[in-house]
Amino acid sequence: MSQPSSPAAATLPATSAAASVAASIPSYLQADNLGPWGIYLQQVDRVVPYLGPLARWAETLRRPKRALIVDVPIQLDNGTVAHFEGYRVQHNTSRGPGKGGVRFHQDVTLSEVMALSAWMSIKNAAVNVPFGGAKGGIRVNPKTLSLGELERMTRRYTSEIGIIIGPTKDIPAPDVNTNEQIMAWMMDTYSMNEGATATGVVTGKPVDLGGSLGRRDATGRGVFTVGVEAARHIGLDIATARVTVQGFGNVGGVAARLFAQAGARVVAVQDHGGTIYRESGLDVPSLLAHVAAVGTVTGFTQAEVLPNDQFWDVDCDILIPAALEQQITELNAGRIKARMIIEGANGPTTPAADDILHDRNVLVLPDVIANAGGVTVSYFEWVQDFSSFFWTEDEINQRLTRIMKEAFAAVWQLAADRKVSLRTAAFIVGCTRVLQAREMRGLYP
Ligand code: NAD
Repeated sequence: MSQPSSPAAATLPATSAAASVAASIPSYLQADNLGPWGIYLQQVDRVVPYLGPLARWAETLRRPKRALIVDVPIQLDNGTVAHFEGYRVQHNTSRGPGKGGVRFHQDVTLSEVMALSAWMSIKNAAVNVPFGGAKGGIRVNPKTLSLGELERMTRRYTSEIGIIIGPTKDIPAPDVNTNEQIMAWMMDTYSMNEGATATGVVTGKPVDLGGSLGRRDATGRGVFTVGVEAARHIGLDIATARVTVQGFGNVGGVAARLFAQAGARVVAVQDHGGTIYRESGLDVPSLLAHVAAVGTVTGFTQAEVLPNDQFWDVDCDILIPAALEQQITELNAGRIKARMIIEGANGPTTPAADDILHDRNVLVLPDVIANAGGVTVSYFEWVQDFSSFFWTEDEINQRLTRIMKEAFAAVWQLAADRKVSLRTAAFIVGCTRVLQAREMRGLYP
């Protein structure tokens, strides 16, 4: 019997440097074309031509520094043992410790967490807070767990990722389906394992445990701030604007409240339960109270119910996606009536949809600027924890507004100067800062 022939790759010379780099890319880093990591890689490809000599470091952006997958076993209330898959990814730490939220959702995957961590690197650099990018998550539907099960899962996950997080290493925060209580359990678990209270290990904590005033509203407030700035540039009057919001949680709920307070009419809201509509504008405070009581916008009596797909056809001036990734695609981008989209969510718009919206003259305020208010106040919380000296809510909101306005103005100006989209401009600012840090630090060893 003859020996099998040698693998083709061993006998053929590499055709180009690019081909040999491609061949060395591990499988988990390959673009999942329709997934968040694939979208992120396409966004990087679009910015590389604008990075000048720093482009030689661009491969840094295409690989997370560190990715940890953990098994999270817990005893359920019925006595059985359940195993959940958890992740913590540190995409880049050239500019400082990793920073980014923790998501509990049944669709969480390693590739999604990689993309979310990478967007954190770009975002933190774009608003110039001294952090790298990280993100974590557990693949679970937390709504199926009792409070005790949720606590046990959170604590075991924290212990498992405890080998790579810490106040100077990587600082988690809330994201989809995680909140102040979960941050309190994470802080306590990490502190117990360390033998010392370490408030700075997470942000988004309750105020009584070293949390910051203003953190709960910060992301929605940032969405509102950049929305007002952009509206001014395009001559859109917020006081008469019609607004639609997808996702009515921490980000979407606060953004809707602030737009309504400024006089805007919030005409449609969609969440995981369904879509509601009211031509004369929803009563946002009543809707927030309804969601706090029942967990979804559905069942709110002062509104009509719409089929979910019709949400995208609603006549509006401003659309705020504030739920999950890949909601605006080539399938619905052509139907959107808004003049402006403010990305409260991370990664809600695919590159193909970006192109359609650009051709239709719809302004997209990209996630890496628009939802940076949360991490900005997380930075304030971290600083306050280190100094054990706490600021007033007014001080926090003023500093937040200043940082958001300055970052937005810089991105707006760059987009105008280079004739690129706001997303590409924000990526130019963010990627340049990340790669400058990479270059100055050099490679170790
Ligand atoms: P949350 O858990 O408070 O709220 C999520 C909302 O999305 C809920 O209203 C939920 O019903 C809705 N939703 C879930 N699946 C949906 C679906 N399939 N269709 C429509 N709606 C759906 O989460 P959050 O903290 O408000 O985060 C929302 C988005 O904002 C995420 O993309 C997150 O990464 C991003 N973000 C959050 C923060 C923060 O500080 N919390 C900061 C920056 C970015």
